Amino acid sequence: MLQGKTALVTGSTSGIGLGMAVALAQQGAKLMLNGFGDVDAALQTVRAAGSGEVAYHGADMRRPDEIEDLVHQCERQFGGPDIVVNNAGIQHVALVEDFPVERWDAIIAINLSSAFHTMRVALPGMKHRGWGRVINVASVHGLVASAGKSAYVAAKHGIVGLTRAAALECARSGVTVNAICPGWVLTPLVQKQIDARAAEHGLSNEEAERQLLAEKEPSLRFTTPEQLAALALFLCSPAGDNVLGTAWNMDGGWTAQ
Ligand code: NAD
Repeated sequence: MLQGKTALVTGSTSGIGLGMAVALAQQGAKLMLNGFGDVDAALQTVRAAGSGEVAYHGADMRRPDEIEDLVHQCERQFGGPDIVVNNAGIQHVALVEDFPVERWDAIIAINLSSAFHTMRVALPGMKHRGWGRVINVASVHGLVASAGKSAYVAAKHGIVGLTRAAALECARSGVTVNAICPGWVLTPLVQKQIDARAAEHGLSNEEAERQLLAEKEPSLRFTTPEQLAALALFLCSPAGDNVLGTAWNMDGGWTAQ
């Protein structure tokens, strides 16, 4: 479905981003990966999934100049990008009055501003070519809040707003901009929160996991990166041509309550 297209996925060395990159590669897209950690393993996984046309750029999503370079490098190497998945994200849990200022700044930069920077560089090319897809990985926290997550909730509400504004600007160009809003997904970002809960209350990993789900997610099931990637592929398909500015939840009923 995506032969000849180039996809750039930020934060694609792990979790949801890696799942998105694999699914896009399986559909024939060329992939520009980004993120920290085990880069070689991510490159190998995505190469094995697709044509092998996979590259990596280590841009730090806190740095607008590095983000510009990431998009330009993608353009030089593969053309495009035709698909941008803004996925890189971090979490920090603390009350507003205890929130480290440096963590606030990093969350706003990585979880919100980086999407503005990829879009401001990538959208002109997409509009010019008359086809493009921007998929912003927001969260249920783009729609509702939880205590202790002020920066994350602010950034994710922000990215939902950014998605809507950009979608309107692109409405007649063949480019769509949408947000995806997952509930709990069992990735390193969430495992840290399970570990913290287990340590605080003296629980087993299984019990901490069960409590985490029971608190928010009626289905009591994690969404998987593969399920989120299937939604991203739908948005990239012809059936997604007229889907604009949505904040599409996949959250086991979290936001239905
Ligand atoms: P993860 O920790 O597995 O992956 C995060 C990715 O972002 C990694 O590749 C990491 O290297 C990258 N990253 C972090 N800081 C970066 C930086 N400064 N520059 C470049 N890359 C950076 O987490 P995940 O759960 O897969 O999260 C992916 C996205 O999904 C995030 O935006 C997160 O907010 C969102 N999300 C996750 C969940 C969940 O339950 N896991 C739910 C809703 C939304």
